[in-house]
Amino acid sequence: MNIILFGPPGAGKGTQAAKLVEEYKLPHLSTGNIFRAAIKNETPVGLKAKSYIDAGELVPDQVVVDIVAEALEDDIYANGCIFDGFPRTVFQAESLDKILEKHGTGDAQVIALTVPEEELIRRVLSRGEGRSDDTEEGIKNRLAVYQKETAPVLAHYANRGQAKIIEGTGDVNDIFNRIKAVLS
Ligand code: AMP
Repeated sequence: MNIILFGPPGAGKGTQAAKLVEEYKLPHLSTGNIFRAAIKNETPVGLKAKSYIDAGELVPDQVVVDIVAEALEDDIYANGCIFDGFPRTVFQAESLDKILEKHGTGDAQVIALTVPEEELIRRVLSRGEGRSDDTEEGIKNRLAVYQKETAPVLAHYANRGQAKIIEGTGDVNDIFNRIKAVLS
């Protein structure tokens, strides 16, 4: 079983991913977390990714696809995975289709969280995780990048009936129950 948590920055993907991990006993794969760890450890991938992340831009597709393909070779993903923050472009989505086909863990079910923009900005600026990209300028740029490059990914999945839209506002547990109700 593969689940993609989809939505703009601040939509609650990480929060809901943690709850899904508990419920479905699937591993969590957050490309943002992988990059932040790589930056901290000053690895070659981290060095490549840092300037993009600090600018609120997307890390180049091939860099992202390569780290995901490599990560998914690990046996912990043998039954599938909860993707958080990936795919963020149509190219990444098409690449993931091929990777999942190769692994035979099933098509991904996409949970798209919707939250009004003012609320997204408020959440990101108040989350206090000390992220270098959680500034007012950073979040505004990431939202613009989301609209331009990431929003079209939803159509890629919706056209094939793989996407469910979930209202991402209100109580965290209520949102989680909405998600569980649409997962098969
Ligand atoms: P996140 O933690 O998912 O908000 O990701 C933080 C930042 O890491 C993003 O703003 C991008 O710069 C980069 N990033 C994470 N995932 C991806 C991805 N799938 N494609 C491109 N860049 C990504």
